[in-house]
Amino acid sequence: METKKNIVVIGAGYGGITAALRLARLFHKHHNYQIHLIDKNPYHTLKTQLHEAAIRKTEVTIPIDRIIQRRNIFFHLGEVTRIDSAKQSVYMGSESLSFYYLAIALGSQVNFYNIPGLRENSFPLQTLSDAQLIYDYITRLCARAASEPVEKRRRDMLRFIIGGGGLSGIEFASEFADHAAQCICNYHVNPQEVEIIIIEAGSHIMSKMDESFAARIHKKLLEKSIKIITETKIVSRTPDTVTLSSGKVLRTKTVIWTGGIRIQELAKRSGMKIGQLGRIIVDEFLQVESYPSIYAIGDNALAVNSYSKEAVPAAAQFALQQGRLAANNIYADISGGMRKSYHPKLLGEVVGLGRHLAVGWLALPILKKITFVGFLGSLLKTAVQKKHIFLLRKESRKWITY
Ligand SMILES: Cc1cc2nc3c(=O)[nH]c(=O)nc-3n(C[C@H](O)[C@H](O)[C@H](O)COP(=O)(O)OP(=O)(O)OC[C@H]3O[C@@H](n4cnc5c(N)ncnc54)[C@H](O)[C@@H]3O)c2cc1C
Repeated sequence: METKKNIVVIGAGYGGITAALRLARLFHKHHNYQIHLIDKNPYHTLKTQLHEAAIRKTEVTIPIDRIIQRRNIFFHLGEVTRIDSAKQSVYMGSESLSFYYLAIALGSQVNFYNIPGLRENSFPLQTLSDAQLIYDYITRLCARAASEPVEKRRRDMLRFIIGGGGLSGIEFASEFADHAAQCICNYHVNPQEVEIIIIEAGSHIMSKMDESFAARIHKKLLEKSIKIITETKIVSRTPDTVTLSSGKVLRTKTVIWTGGIRIQELAKRSGMKIGQLGRIIVDEFLQVESYPSIYAIGDNALAVNSYSKEAVPAAAQFALQQGRLAANNIYADISGGMRKSYHPKLLGEVVGLGRHLAVGWLALPILKKITFVGFLGSLLKTAVQKKHIFLLRKESRKWITY
């Protein structure tokens, strides 16, 4: 009996799920190839909406079985612990799966930069369980603060620090400010006692975005009574305090840490070359250097923009583009077609500033773009998020409700 050749995708996030669905479509008549998808969770996480789950407990996952239903995709629930690039196998503990081609899309993890006390005493926001923890904690803390009779203790409970003024920190802070306003009203808390403070190491928030947009976002955050401290780092954390690089010590029970990402060391341990933040060095086809049967996608891949010569940022829109391209290139490799180079397309940037407000721009044909601030922006942000689900539906030919 002829054994099938395995094309394995590890990670079912934005990049991995797109690659797996695309591969299933391309190989649907090639019965000697089997597509495998591995993830440690049985669901696809809409990571760009995690801040909403952390504050409003919204649904941000889609079960993988619904996405891959009736497709030539074999799903494995398991944590990848090792990649043997020479033997062409991936390991989930003692179980192994050999691969003919592999696409690595394991996303990123939080980076605490070894700041003393930060890992032990702060909340990251990278996974569904992080969001659930934050939701439970904040719900309890707000209720406890409302019934705390000592003002000093109440103020410590109601001072919330967000470490990192990038996209996830800003979106979380804005969503949280709306929620805090609601709690203040429901629990009769004095609004003067609530403080939300963003600490940003750079000279301005949203450092990767156009400065004029960053300035608009800054203004909107101030209107929500969010304080912003720039050019300052968190240098240590205890359960009750945060020490800043300026020497200032803030008393707080809560730090939400969104200050940086890093990539898990699986690829490095298996001999692949890595660059900044531990991202895997790939060529213009997204192929891993020295390993022609391995591709890397999304946050894992250190892809370079051939025009600007800069690293492509870790963002969902690039993970989606790369997932599709890696699948097409694997198909081209196997079928003898022409592979295509990766040219990142920045389709827009939309920053949600709470439930009914967003700032950003979207690309239009012929080098034009539309910019927006306000409620219309939040509708467009929702449309961008829904587009991903729509494309999953289209690829899986299945109506996914979530
Ligand atoms: C709060 C927040 C808000 C964000 N907002 C935006 C936004 O508005 N716009 C934007 O473009 N980007 C945003 N990002 C960044 C974006 O989410 C990431 O760039 C994107 O998710 C990367 O996609 P990926 O496919 O590389 O990895 P991911 O989507 O992270 O998927 C990785 C998958 O791998 C699985 N996995 C990890 N390790 C293992 C293992 N060892 N074994 C098995 N499975 C494993 C995970 O369970 C996960 O399913 C945000 C990120 C966060 C945290």
